[in-house]
Amino acid sequence: SSMTKEDVLQKAEELDVKFIRLQFTDILGVVKNVAITVDQLEEALEGEIMFDGSSIDGFTRIQESDMYLKPDFNTFTIFPWRPEAGGTVARLVCDVYNPNDEAFAGGPRNVLKKVLKEAEEMGYTMNVGPEPEFFLFEKTEDGRATIETHDQGGYFDLGPVDLGNDVRREIVLTLEKMGFEVEASHHEVAPGQHEIDFKYEEALRTADNIATFKFVVKSIANQYDVHATFMPKPIFGENGSGMHVHQSLFEGSENAFYDESDELGLSQTAKYYIGGLLKHAQALAAITNPTVNSYKRLVPGYEAPVYQAWSSANRSALIRIPSASGVGTRLELRNPDPTANPYLAIAVMLKAGLDGIKNEIEPPTEVVENIYDMTAEEKEELGIESLPVNINQAVQELLADEVIQDALGDHVLKHFVEAKQIEWDDYRTSVHQWELDNYLETF
Ligand code: GLU
Ligand code: MG
Ligand code: MG
Repeated sequence: SSMTKEDVLQKAEELDVKFIRLQFTDILGVVKNVAITVDQLEEALEGEIMFDGSSIDGFTRIQESDMYLKPDFNTFTIFPWRPEAGGTVARLVCDVYNPNDEAFAGGPRNVLKKVLKEAEEMGYTMNVGPEPEFFLFEKTEDGRATIETHDQGGYFDLGPVDLGNDVRREIVLTLEKMGFEVEASHHEVAPGQHEIDFKYEEALRTADNIATFKFVVKSIANQYDVHATFMPKPIFGENGSGMHVHQSLFEGSENAFYDESDELGLSQTAKYYIGGLLKHAQALAAITNPTVNSYKRLVPGYEAPVYQAWSSANRSALIRIPSASGVGTRLELRNPDPTANPYLAIAVMLKAGLDGIKNEIEPPTEVVENIYDMTAEEKEELGIESLPVNINQAVQELLADEVIQDALGDHVLKHFVEAKQIEWDDYRTSVHQWELDNYLETF
């Protein structure tokens, strides 16, 4: 369903909207808002609302700071948790434009649109279904986040002991009011850890949904006085939070990944896509696992991938093929985590897959054994490489991969790499608690 300008105006009136947040994200995936009143809505829908781009990290320099927001009408929704008295609050996801009416190259949503266009020229649309995980932690009396949890719960635990379940329920109800189709929601393996899966949609819509999802989770948790975090590995020795990404390409209404004559139900197109993902996995990690902490999750023993391999069953592999056939055929990339900018992450995954298709990159053979249990020699024999061990290594891989750089474009690449180098340097030169624990008394 495609909304028109008139539809949005009419809906805003019906729903007694008073304020509208014009939403976009910066290069690191932080959601930004420009708030307007309903009196400015018509102007906003014409793409005439201006903001100062130089106030957004990595956007523009002072001398060229005027930027415009062009709303995507289909993203109109209200924030159900805001008070209704005095009018409701709605939001529209926007694309960022330069004053000369060109899409701004530093806008992550524009980056994704560019790669989607490339897919479209090859005859494909992309469907994406994410599985974001997060922790709910208690707060101190003065409102600081802790890593204490309320629950003793484990995977799919039921039981009244868990305040987390109430918060999660409220999150799900809120998402549904906003038009999300929530498919599953459950407690995860670690204490305090949860997962909410929403239905796959066309790639751009899913990227918008992930961005929205994260601030809905945080807002609702806040109301219950608990802290929600998407930090990938908050607790040493426990599972971390990933965001597995299920993906498939469609040609019209046909799933281009499905071939009923294949043993695994996978088409040659799907296999080349896997080949592309594996070929570019190292560079992709910089975008799908973009923080120092991301790499503390990607270690053996916690259901997170460490090695570059694919498998139809094995959860230690980077790419898993869920058992589904026909329109449901898809692959699951397991290394992304929820600190990734969803627009950039989907853009680079798609780019890698398309490169596999264009260049007919055959994937290595499927790995059926648990890779965590293999010796270094066995992995070497099968040609199974490891993912980068830290963000610095991942950024170096990105700087060596022209295909992935091309997906990001010069502007985003430059600012992303700069930000990550600063982050790494800061981490590298800090003295951590681990060092004090191990060296202070020994030496
Ligand atoms: N929490 C695990 C991870 O870090 C994933 C668990 C699961 O298979 O859902 O990726
Ligand atoms: Mg999970
Ligand atoms: Mg999964």
